[in-house]
Amino acid sequence: MIVLRDDMQSKVTGCMLIVTPIAWIITSFVNPESLVIGGVFFLLAFLVFFWRYSCASSGENDLTISFDSIRFSIDGRPVRIRWKELEDYGTWRKTSRISADQGGEMEKTTDYIALKRKKANGITETFHKDLSSWGGSKVMGHVAFYTPNRVVKLIKKLSDAQSKKERVEIIKNAKGMSNFEFKFKQRKIPFRHRDVLTCTKCGVMSCYDNRIPKNEFKCPSCGENPKSERERNRMIKETSLPSCEIGKKLL
Ligand SMILES: [Zn+2]
Repeated sequence: MIVLRDDMQSKVTGCMLIVTPIAWIITSFVNPESLVIGGVFFLLAFLVFFWRYSCASSGENDLTISFDSIRFSIDGRPVRIRWKELEDYGTWRKTSRISADQGGEMEKTTDYIALKRKKANGITETFHKDLSSWGGSKVMGHVAFYTPNRVVKLIKKLSDAQSKKERVEIIKNAKGMSNFEFKFKQRKIPFRHRDVLTCTKCGVMSCYDNRIPKNEFKCPSCGENPKSERERNRMIKETSLPSCEIGKKLL
């Protein structure tokens, strides 16, 4: 089973839970009169961040991919699509506007996948599941990072697979190294031999031992050769943003 979670969302809101009380203390020192009014303001901000942190880390926004189905929830409603029910799928990006209290607007882009389910009784339904606003999601307990395109590729592989055994194998190989093994291996590389590279395929940054030939480097997230930073920048220019005709068609 692969559990994909918007890891950055919980990290950012978690940091804000620490920053908000510090900001209140500093503001109160600078201007003691604002102790109470500032306290109410920062308490409200803290509660909002706490609520968002609880949502992000509770797992209710996770996307669970297993050998028999793909599961997620939309507005609290659990959805399960078995592989044989999956008729169409794709990834797309949406832009929403968030208006600030002081006026002005902020644009927020979110990548999502569109999944079309056809039940045995012939009823079809299309779901739009948000993936992330931070470029991708992380496999819980493992290093693997999934951009929307990578999620769609994995869905395609599993949807095309013919047996349970084949799907179990695909999932096993798609998780990447476990967090424990990753930390252990990274710690073993001496500082002077560390070569930091970002994988061109999945975007995960990792240290590699420069005593090993470069073409033998293996990304802990996707298992591919990570390639150099310069090569990565060249490839980013050449490849377009996550999109696909199927995702567009479902809109
Ligand atoms: Zn990779």
